[in-house]
Amino acid sequence: MYINETFLALLNYLYEGVYIIDKQRNIIFWNKSAEEITGYKSEEVLGRSCKDNILRHVDKNGNELCINGCPMVFSMENSVVVSDEVYLHHKSGYRLLVRVKGIPILKNGKEANGVIELFTPVLPTLDHDDLFNLALKDPLTKLYNRKGFDFMYPIRQREMMLLDYHTGVLFFDIDDFKKINDTYGHEAGDKVLYAISQIFINFLRHQDIVVRWGGEEFLAVIFIKDLNHVKIIGKKLIKLIQTSFIEYGSTIIKFTLSGGGTFLKKEETILETIKRADQLMYEAKRQGKNRFICDI
Ligand code: GH3
Ligand code: MG
Ligand code: MG
Repeated sequence: MYINETFLALLNYLYEGVYIIDKQRNIIFWNKSAEEITGYKSEEVLGRSCKDNILRHVDKNGNELCINGCPMVFSMENSVVVSDEVYLHHKSGYRLLVRVKGIPILKNGKEANGVIELFTPVLPTLDHDDLFNLALKDPLTKLYNRKGFDFMYPIRQREMMLLDYHTGVLFFDIDDFKKINDTYGHEAGDKVLYAISQIFINFLRHQDIVVRWGGEEFLAVIFIKDLNHVKIIGKKLIKLIQTSFIEYGSTIIKFTLSGGGTFLKKEETILETIKRADQLMYEAKRQGKNRFICDI
């Protein structure tokens, strides 16, 4: 089957995992994200048949899908796009929940002679569960509260460790927040808190954990491959916040943060790391606020 080079180059750089199977179910393409998500390098899977069960997709009831009930085969045989949530086997031996989409490659717009599968990990966010939100999230900012952090952290940490990520810890406190409350009122202060939380949520990635740690304190636990990203992300956040504002009636209110950043060391608990980030944040306050201090 001929596939355009430009198209393959594009597929290679998608955030989603992508692979292509031909009519005989041989894997003929495996992109970089597929390597990252599954732990399998392309040379380990290319040319093999997906019915050899190397991917070992199972459904939510534990049924093996590669032998019986493969959504990709369904997509090929019926020339339809399918989507589903399945578990795949990560090379390190654990099961990973992914959302998959199978897109048939049609010949002359009719019969399929292959399928493109897109897949992306589903991390346990349980966003729609009201009880979960009530107990583990802060109602004003919709960020995790401390209890939420205690719940989410061990789950994410275990997944991310298996994928060889480092844990970066960033601690922030709003500068002169008392003055904002005193000048514009508590309601305006609440709007500032909400705006800041949205900036955090939109800037960080879905696997990162953002917490309203205290009244006007925020904690971000980020999973990174390169420790230098703590500093880069911390500084970017400070800059993003510094250039943001809210409109309160006819008034423009601006605000800044001070932050400290470090990373989880092998022999310590996460609370020890958070404490160190908090101390670095105080150092940022001492040096004049609106800045990020990092010990990496
Ligand atoms: P610094 O730059 O040193 O951090 O000074 P600051 O004024 O930010 O620090 P301080 O700890 O004196 O004041 C924090 C203020 O945050 C006091 C408190 O009333 C306010 N605050 C805490 N939680 C909330 C909230 O939910 N809503 C509002 N509007 N204000 C809050
Ligand atoms: Mg404070
Ligand atoms: Mg403050």
